[in-house]
Amino acid sequence: MTARHGEKARAGVITTPHGEIATPAFIPVGTKATVKAVLPETMADLGAQALLANAYHLYLQPGHDLVDEAGGLGAFMNWPGPTYTDSGGFQVMSLGAGFKKVLSSEFAGGATARTSTGEDDAVADGKERLAHVDDDGVTFRSFINGDIHRFTPEVSLQIQHGLGADIMFAFDELTTLMNSRPYQERALERTRLWAERCLAEHARLTAERSAKPYQQLWGVIQGAQYEDLRRKASRDLGAMSVEGWEFDGFGIGGALEKENLGTIVGWVTEELPDQKPRHLLGISEVDDLFTAVAAGADTFDCVSPSRVARNSAVYTRSGRVNLTGSRYKRQFAPIDETCDCYTCTHYTAAYIHHLFRAKEMLSATLCTIHNERFVVRLVDEIRASLIAGDFDALREERTGAYYGEVR
Ligand SMILES: [Zn+2]
Repeated sequence: MTARHGEKARAGVITTPHGEIATPAFIPVGTKATVKAVLPETMADLGAQALLANAYHLYLQPGHDLVDEAGGLGAFMNWPGPTYTDSGGFQVMSLGAGFKKVLSSEFAGGATARTSTGEDDAVADGKERLAHVDDDGVTFRSFINGDIHRFTPEVSLQIQHGLGADIMFAFDELTTLMNSRPYQERALERTRLWAERCLAEHARLTAERSAKPYQQLWGVIQGAQYEDLRRKASRDLGAMSVEGWEFDGFGIGGALEKENLGTIVGWVTEELPDQKPRHLLGISEVDDLFTAVAAGADTFDCVSPSRVARNSAVYTRSGRVNLTGSRYKRQFAPIDETCDCYTCTHYTAAYIHHLFRAKEMLSATLCTIHNERFVVRLVDEIRASLIAGDFDALREERTGAYYGEVR
């Protein structure tokens, strides 16, 4: 821990065999062991301290055994720094379900929302449920070829040990805000039992693979929008010890209504051990990042900066814009004059507008560099503000500029 601000916000350092991560930090996502359209060297140049890959995707293709044979995720993809993998649970349980991480309350539907079939199985209209959960694990269909696969806590840990990331996550059951309260309780108990199995398998694999660099295992806190469930899960996993093995950090999972994000993260961080890091899975919006840091979260990942970049959407100091708009045709100036990224220091918005219109691949590269730099730099500035003691001023200035003065 290097600095504290207010009741919960903190700056610190996570140490891994592949280097340190100064927190708060934004961790860009390279789903299939690549940040789409961008070289890993460029990700390092733009300030990424670590990358996060998806266990589910790499399990299906090329397989964790092959990545293990290659020397682990970092060596395989030529990224020398720290790496994270998620447990695969989010992808396994959300693919096909039309699931989004941070929901507007309209989409979430509040406590009254139920699915059209009346079953406690939240799936968006027009989507087929591709995963089925039981007490032992999850059976699902491959999104690649429809083959049936099965994940259990043990399988997830075997995959993640094979991938070899510095930070791994326990296998948990993902629920949505549309599941009923009794279902949330059952799912939470299942996640607690799975967490114990993850620790036991982690202990076994760490001993078996003792020549490999140590991989941290972080527990995942579920509990949806319920205060008592979130607090219970945090206390249970925070104190959990299996054969002397404890979680090295924690992930905060599940769907969160934007309006309650700070409140829910605050419940969790109040209960978790203070000295261990907390990762909030799947956020990158400017206001969400400030809210999450204020509530005590340390690292964040999100696929959005790169996903939206490929659709010509870029972040600027004064909000998100779309570069295909005709106003950019003759903007012979950078996307954002205040940005220090490679794209903004070498290319004009007019040129990138042309690349999108001409459907040129370079558009994705240039915009991904810009968006990833924007979020990485923002979180770096947040970290500096915690150390300097002016977090509140930065929050007001940056959210005011990004969303307009009226919030
Ligand atoms: Zn830029």
